[in-house]
Amino acid sequence: MLIPKSLRTYCPHCNKHTNHSVSIYKTAPKRRALSQGQRRAERRRRGHGNKGRYSKKPITQIKTHAKTTKKGVLTLKCSECGKTHHRSLGQRIKKLELKR
Ligand SMILES: [Zn+2]
Repeated sequence: MLIPKSLRTYCPHCNKHTNHSVSIYKTAPKRRALSQGQRRAERRRRGHGNKGRYSKKPITQIKTHAKTTKKGVLTLKCSECGKTHHRSLGQRIKKLELKR
């Protein structure tokens, strides 16, 4: 999906339509790769046995990502007040790009 670099839309801070510069929202990088609980589970799964799942079937395959698409979120920056707000595109998309 191609998205224009700037668009004229409603700014909740100015309470009117203004020009906005558009960028794609990205989540902040994780401070730690794995949480304490994830590290503990990883340690238990190592080696033989049923991968630390005491009352469940053993894990044969660890699925990290079930979904192949993401919901697109845009960061809009108002040209008048300079404040940013987010806008979800409301659908799942495989690829999100800014128009050149
Ligand atoms: Zn504004």
